[in-house]
Amino acid sequence: MSVKRPVYLDYAAATPSDQRVIEEMISCMSIDGAFANPHAKDHVYGWEAAEAVETARDRVAALIGASPLEIYFTSGATEANNLAIFGLAEALEAQGSQKKRLVTSPIEHKAVLEACEKLSHQGYEITYIKPDHEGIVTAEMLKDVMDDDVFLVTLAQANSVLGSVNDVHKLAKVARSYGAFFHTDTAQSAGYVKTDFDSSDVSMATLTSEKICGPKGVGALYVQRAQKVPLEAQILGGGQEKGLRGGTVPTHQVAGMGKAFEIMRHQGDEDAKRMNALRDKFIKGLSAVEGCVINGSSEHHVPGILSVSFKGIDGSKLMPTLSGVACSTGSACSSADLKPSYILTGIGLDDALARASLRLSWGRFTKEQEIDEAVSAIAKAVKALRA
Ligand SMILES: *Cc1c(COP(=O)(O)O)cnc(C)c1O
Repeated sequence: MSVKRPVYLDYAAATPSDQRVIEEMISCMSIDGAFANPHAKDHVYGWEAAEAVETARDRVAALIGASPLEIYFTSGATEANNLAIFGLAEALEAQGSQKKRLVTSPIEHKAVLEACEKLSHQGYEITYIKPDHEGIVTAEMLKDVMDDDVFLVTLAQANSVLGSVNDVHKLAKVARSYGAFFHTDTAQSAGYVKTDFDSSDVSMATLTSEKICGPKGVGALYVQRAQKVPLEAQILGGGQEKGLRGGTVPTHQVAGMGKAFEIMRHQGDEDAKRMNALRDKFIKGLSAVEGCVINGSSEHHVPGILSVSFKGIDGSKLMPTLSGVACSTGSACSSADLKPSYILTGIGLDDALARASLRLSWGRFTKEQEIDEAVSAIAKAVKALRA
């Protein structure tokens, strides 16, 4: 018989797909569905698949206040970040631009940081803005480092470990006033936090499906048309996505993403309200645990992420002691090694405290009772480690 699985509190790493998303995907897979190559122009099968892709594009655009013409499908947020950063750098280089400085922060997702790191070996200068202790970069901090040699500012809308939210509308305005483009990774925030990108100064935004109850392996880059952002394709072949991203568009994946975005447009506010109530419950429960510190912002945050640290315990024993809760100790990509999360040390936590941390994240299918269970499991583990 199956054993009881732990409470799933790792939505910031991946979410279960919504049943409506799964059905939409299945409708694009079998012989009687929209399975064909969406670029096949010569038959009805291809037209049906193309229609499914365009419906998905409309739905993605609608959630973020954009036009479908501004949505380029990719294999996920990682690829979208790569396309935004390398694509812009290469296109500007080809135009003979003299701007060689990029501004970001040290607590961005690795998909952004590693791309910046690579550019730093190719003659570009990277400026890292130190965020405040809540993980937020303000317009004033950005102004302090800006000048007209900056070609790109890239700052996430919500931090993937802390859940802290940057005001990307204000940040984009500052970047544009210095003639730089502004990119933001919204993998953790789209649908929960204001986007309205067409009426903003945001030049490019990274989107993904897997964090909002859609499938993995699909994402998109929003590119504002009005700004005429120059971009060089990073994957060549076939000329799909208006030449910006070669390769057959995976109809079922993008249809799943489209459905996930449509559901968020209709019920994102309701989800957020419920998830924020769970967050309050979590904070209340955990505050009673000795030595518990809440990281991030109590005011500007996404509804489903909570980073907590516990003073005076051995962090390397925390996860092994904590049965009953499936969560992450930092960012999923780096949890395998025992180095403290660079995001937590990046907001000033010392190594020991950063190691003794948990990222708890929940979503649409999390029940109130599961939060209660998690709180008691965490309290028990921390108590055991203190004994
Ligand atoms: C999850 C995540 C990514 C990576 O997304 P993929 O779609 O798996 O490539 C990138 N950025 C942020 C902020 C994330 O949370």
